[in-house]
Amino acid sequence: MVAGIFLLKAAPLQQQITDYLPIFFLTIFIITFLLGLRFKRNRLVFALFLLALSLGLCSLYPQQPIIYPVLALLLPLNLTLTLLLPEKRFGSTLTALYGSSLLIQGLAIFWFEQYWPENFSRILYQPLPFSLPLESQPGILLFGILTTSTLLALVNFQRRPQPLESAFFWTLVLTVIPFYLQFENQFLMLFFCLAIATLLTGLLETSHNMAYRDELTGIPGRRALNESLKRLGKRYSLAMLDIDHFKKFNDKHGHDVGDQVLKMVAGCLATVACGGHAFRYGGEEFTIVFPNRKIEDIQTELERIRKKVATTGFIPRSKDRPAKKPTKRTLKKTTNKPLSVTISIGVAEPSRERRSPDQVISAADQALYLAKQQGRNRICN
Ligand code: GH3
Ligand code: MG
Ligand code: MG
Repeated sequence: MVAGIFLLKAAPLQQQITDYLPIFFLTIFIITFLLGLRFKRNRLVFALFLLALSLGLCSLYPQQPIIYPVLALLLPLNLTLTLLLPEKRFGSTLTALYGSSLLIQGLAIFWFEQYWPENFSRILYQPLPFSLPLESQPGILLFGILTTSTLLALVNFQRRPQPLESAFFWTLVLTVIPFYLQFENQFLMLFFCLAIATLLTGLLETSHNMAYRDELTGIPGRRALNESLKRLGKRYSLAMLDIDHFKKFNDKHGHDVGDQVLKMVAGCLATVACGGHAFRYGGEEFTIVFPNRKIEDIQTELERIRKKVATTGFIPRSKDRPAKKPTKRTLKKTTNKPLSVTISIGVAEPSRERRSPDQVISAADQALYLAKQQGRNRICN
């Protein structure tokens, strides 16, 4: 961003960049718009539409002094509304409502401007009761909307901590800055390009996560494991982990509780040290790959993980279970006793007889079978 502004400010380059900026904007806009449609990301498409509409209005009416302050108010407001929307299918009532709301906003501005111009400017530029350490002071309305929008975008990101939501937050910030600092149109376009690039990155990152991360546990899934196995060198260790008596657990407490146990175990595995990477192999089985480590190097770490799962215990999330993890003191007071969850682990490494990762996985599986036979909640190799 800083580099972009610097280039635009550097006089000899300015003309060339200004010449190419619309082409760049159009290219990145079309790519992101088409990908948004393809991946059925309604909110992204709406956000892009808003950016294009705002830029279009600024370019069509560069002499209209009212355009900038009005867009400074309405763009963050509409972007925030967009990011708070649920992802619904196109053509739904939601789209119609969205379109109507934009039309109503346009008509309202027109009506205010035409028939109530003094009050309109008074509301728009009503000063803040305090002054900010800035050159130009925002009006109370603009300040309120910007603060609320940014906070809502942050809350939204906390609720849905995904790359696209983070991209929405940064889009909001990037689109607000040029309006707020009253930049010229070329800067506006530069910032909008950056905002769209952020959205595109968020979209691609989300798609990557969908392909490579396990939805339930949030850790990398089988496809990611297969990719990682291709990149392994000659020396590595591999552990197969399996939850003990998981079927009984499901039968007794229900599938939902089973899912919560899977998340808890995945959370423990995600803390793996020693350069290990944890994956959900499938069902209630997990794999940890330790590149450049021999079996003896990882024993202590696996033992730590086995104990961590066994001692974490598990209280099913029921209606009376607090949303936050209770402290040890409150844990004792609850009537529900934590359920015991244990895992068995089988470890293997490549050797002369087993060279391929598939063979190493089979060997780790056999070791796991041994751990089960020997009474579970243990490590075998
Ligand atoms: P062992 O100690 O020998 O491993 O016994 P087990 O009961 O864990 O082994 P088994 O392979 O017979 O059972 C695995 C169970 O895992 C069966 C299936 O219902 C359950 N399971 C697999 N995937 C999921 C899932 O995503 N969610 C839930 N809740 N259960 C799952
Ligand atoms: Mg199993
Ligand atoms: Mg099992």
